[in-house]
Order: sequence, then structure tokens, then C-alpha cells
Amino acid sequence: MKTATSNLKKPIIIAGPCSAETEEQVFNTAKALANSNKVNMLRAGIWKPRTRPGNFEGVGEKGLKWLVDAGKAHNLPTTTEVANAKHVELALKAGVDVLWIGARTTVNPFSVQEIADAVKGSNIPIMIKNPINPDLQLWVGAIERIADAGINDITAIHRGFSSFEKTKFRNEPKWGIPIELMHLFPDLPIICDPSHIGGTRDLIEPLSQKALDMNMAGLMIETHLTPDEAWSDAKQQITPTRLIQLLDRLVVREKDLINPLIISELDSLRSEIDDVDEKILNAISDRFKVITKIGEFKKENNTTILQPDRWFEILKTRGLIGSQLKLNDPFVDQLLKLIHKESVLLQTKIMNS
Ligand code: PEP
Ligand code: MN
Repeated sequence: MKTATSNLKKPIIIAGPCSAETEEQVFNTAKALANSNKVNMLRAGIWKPRTRPGNFEGVGEKGLKWLVDAGKAHNLPTTTEVANAKHVELALKAGVDVLWIGARTTVNPFSVQEIADAVKGSNIPIMIKNPINPDLQLWVGAIERIADAGINDITAIHRGFSSFEKTKFRNEPKWGIPIELMHLFPDLPIICDPSHIGGTRDLIEPLSQKALDMNMAGLMIETHLTPDEAWSDAKQQITPTRLIQLLDRLVVREKDLINPLIISELDSLRSEIDDVDEKILNAISDRFKVITKIGEFKKENNTTILQPDRWFEILKTRGLIGSQLKLNDPFVDQLLKLIHKESVLLQTKIMNS
């Protein structure tokens, strides 16, 4: 798949303000970013999807010209968010180079289809953010709708997932979901938006490094000349100067190893992993065989599946073994609960058979 980002230097760095605020701001940001020689694309939100009404909702159509002119003046391709057919029409007319679909739009197949219909025949590159809720299928569906509209230049953006529990992140990264997407679409580039994942400036750098270590193709980072005064997402925007320092510190590791010695060392470690994984699966299968026998026994003797005291004892004793083996306690706890859930399910099937 050819992509918007495929002819740009890796990792692709997309930067610019959360929102275009004034013509001067967009121009001066573009200038600072272009001078760094480290940024490949200029972003700015023109229409802002705000959770509650009454907040700044973007400068609207007039901002498109600021963005496109600033990009042209500083030789940077431009990108903005579109949420409906009208946005698409205006952005295409203004000459924006790449469109992106925001998280609040990806959740809604009606809106995604409206955008897909509007971009048909345009061949405009499109970036698709993950939906706000951790639902891989919605993300996949949005990618398919845009691909079905004949767009072959698609990039996914991982921007984290909203969660009920308060964590240190504005949007929890749940890295497993973009990894799953990589498995489904090996040729689809995925870039990371650490600004919306982190929600605060200090989290941007560690998240960016993590994304590169996960082999993501690039980063979208919100950049503002005076972040504290930004009209939207003030807490998570950084100055172009800070962005450049951050980019300088990031380590871009090799995806493919070339040194044969390192390759063979890694291969041998990987074959150890293969053996261990096989042992784990065999052990789990042995456990379920015993579980089946116990299930049949319980059925014959008309006993309940769950005996709470036994289960608490398992959690306690196995937890202790895990601690002695220096395994992370919450990990052991989760693993045991997962295995136990499957065991109960197996016995329930036996009871009902
Ligand atoms: C944005 O990029 O400014 C934005 C609104 O992002 P998201 O759709 O990820 O919330
Ligand atoms: Mn934002």
C-alpha cells in the first residue's frame, strides 16, 4: 500500500498546533518547525470536536487558507481533521494535502461512511485515528470503509483510549490494540499521537520513545508557540524548541538487524522462548485435563463448581510462589484469574452436558 507517509523520511514527524488560532500563529509555528529540518508535515485543527459546548470550536473555514499557505511557504505538506462531508469538500478545495479522521468520528460508522463517500475519486491520503473506546473492530471498520472508497493511501494513528478509571494518561495507550492492527494489516503504517495519549507535556517523550520501540512509523505531536495560552489542549502542547530537543533525544532503533552475530544470538534466544512457550501451553493443557476430571466428579457428586475457600487459597498460595519467583504480583493475579475463569467455563459446560 502506498501511503501519505511512505515517501517521507522515517520516523515521520507531524507537528503543529492542536488548533489553528490566528494566521500569524500558524505561519510562525510552520516557520519554527520547518527550520528544525526534523518535521515532515504540518498539522492544525480547523474544526475542533469539543466534549462540551461553549469551548473553542475551531476557527473554521478561514483557517484552511492559513494552514495551506503556511505549508507552501515553508515547504511542509499539511493535514487537518475532517468530521463530515462539508469539511472534506472545503479541505480538498483549499488544497490540504492529507486529511485525518478524529477519534470521535472513527466511533461512528455513519460519519466515517459520509467521509468515505465524500473522498471517493479524490485520491487524497487519509490518516485514521483509533476510536475513543478500545474497540479494534471499529478502527478496522473505518479503515475498510475508507479503503473501499478507493483511497489506497491510508495511515492509522494510535491516540489512546478513553477509560472510566483515572490513570496517569489522558487516554490509555493499550498498546496491544495497535499491535493487533499491525498483525491484521502488516503494510499499514501506524503512527503514534503521544500528545493525546499523555495529556501532559512530561509524558510525551517517554511515550514517543515507546512508540518508536514498538516499530511505529512516526509521531504526531501537538506544538504551540505559547502552550500555556493555547485555546485548546494547553496542558499537552509543547513549544517547537522543546519538540526539537525531544526529537534529538529519541533513539531510533534498527528494525532489521544486519550484524550476523547479533542475529544468531537473537535467534538462539528466540528459540529458547519458543521452547518455554510450548511448555507453558502444555502445562495449561494438563491443568485443563485435570479440571475436566474434577468437573465430571463434581457433576456425579452434585457439588457446586465454585468453592470460594479453595479459590482464595489458590490465589494466595500461587501468589506467594509468584512473589518468590520475583514475578510482578498484579500480573500473577491477572493470569490466575484468567486461567480460573476458563476452568469455571469448562466445568460449567460439563455440568450442563
Ligand atoms: C486532535 O488531534 O487535536 C484531536 C482532536 O485528536 P483526537 O481525535 O485524537 O481527540
Ligand atoms: Mn488536540
